[in-house]
Amino acid sequence: MRRTKIVATLGPSSSDPQTISDLIDAGLNVARLNFSHGDHESHGKMIDLIRSIAAEKKTCVTILQDLCGPKIRLGILPDEGVELRKGELCILMSEDSAETDALPVQYENLEADLKKGDRVVLADGTMELTVESIHGKRVVCRIVRGGIVFSRKGVNLPSADLSVVAFTEKDRKDLLFGLEKGVDVVALSFVRSAADLVKIRSIISKDKNPPLLIAKIEKPQAVKNIDEILPMVDGVMVARGDLGVEMPLFDVPVIQKVIIRKARREGKVTITATQMLKSMVDSNLPTRAECTDVANALFDGTCAVMLSEETASGKYPVEAVKVMDGLARATEQHVISEFSLKSDEHVTDKKNIAWAVGRSACWLAKDLEAGAVVAYTESGFTAASVARFRPSAPILALTPNKRTFTKLNMFWGVVPGLTEGFHDIEEMFSTAAEIAVAKGIAKQGDNIVITAGVPLGVKGSTNMVKVYEI
Ligand code: PGA
Ligand code: MN
Repeated sequence: MRRTKIVATLGPSSSDPQTISDLIDAGLNVARLNFSHGDHESHGKMIDLIRSIAAEKKTCVTILQDLCGPKIRLGILPDEGVELRKGELCILMSEDSAETDALPVQYENLEADLKKGDRVVLADGTMELTVESIHGKRVVCRIVRGGIVFSRKGVNLPSADLSVVAFTEKDRKDLLFGLEKGVDVVALSFVRSAADLVKIRSIISKDKNPPLLIAKIEKPQAVKNIDEILPMVDGVMVARGDLGVEMPLFDVPVIQKVIIRKARREGKVTITATQMLKSMVDSNLPTRAECTDVANALFDGTCAVMLSEETASGKYPVEAVKVMDGLARATEQHVISEFSLKSDEHVTDKKNIAWAVGRSACWLAKDLEAGAVVAYTESGFTAASVARFRPSAPILALTPNKRTFTKLNMFWGVVPGLTEGFHDIEEMFSTAAEIAVAKGIAKQGDNIVITAGVPLGVKGSTNMVKVYEI
């Protein structure tokens, strides 16, 4: 049983029913829908399709909606592109007022937000400019690294203090659509601070069973403000694509370790993303370096690994998921350790009853070599309190709530199970044992450790641990 979760981005290479079915069979846990592309109609159809295929297979696929945030792009350029020669000057202008000699940028506050000396990075870091001077709406830049730019390529302004809000009007519309479709996880791009998350958090919190909220860490400001961002979210994504453009590329490996470590201490979900198996866009085998990168992300303690273009537009989407699955299985048995139980590093709040109960359940499971830790959970909270300690026994998370069921699947080590609600606790114990056996997690004669909040059904009340012999 694999503990690490696999997130795969769906796109043109992976939107037909057969491929989706094959991706699920290969080990896909979380389907990521990228709202930088596509409209509500196509995303809606995709969500319905994924759900119906998962239901047919009697399995669980979590749906992650990725909101594009204030992503800045170039406007329309000639088909053959525009050549930028190192050392020469070029003019940038906001698209609404762009003159013919300027590169149009789809950002209305361009000249107001930039200042002399700021970096402007184009097309995923392949080209770079420095602002020399600003005359009215004309931003004059020196070309530091040249190349040919094409329409709609990405523009990163890492050193500018952008006035644009992180949660844009498009994001708000996309989010409302996502909530209506009942997505399980929502990720917001280009978050810089806790303030960027206030609005989205307040909208999400009004939902009856809110999706998990993930902040994508891909701006220098987010790295700096990580301690204030973590309490606002359920998890973070180490979004190495933009991070490697906005920050010095050489700093990305260490930032990855620091972010994962801090997020784990707070019991937050972590996703390591981008270029993990990039060569598999065109090749049916990964490179040795890619294999080592995936394995090292697991050693860093990530909960999930993510595929982007590999599955969205690559030639070998199913093979890429199989490679992730194989790497995770081969590596994670060497990562799982009881370290997090012994050390207080992973307990930042000693008075947190749920965490203390979660840790005790994991200790018991270890000492008794239990078949499973079973968490009975309405909101998912109890299961998260167990998952944060990374027990070597599988975590069977039982819930009567369909939404919680699909959300739980995002957590490290968690096997979600749907049950009826229980009126008395004895009935819950025996049903937990039956499901553990039916799922092949535990067998007759095994001990399982069961944890829940009593009285059943009150959120955040995790307070009970029970050893149960099957
Ligand atoms: P993106 O985010 O793929 O939406 O840009 C991930 C990243 O930047 O790594
Ligand atoms: Mn990004």
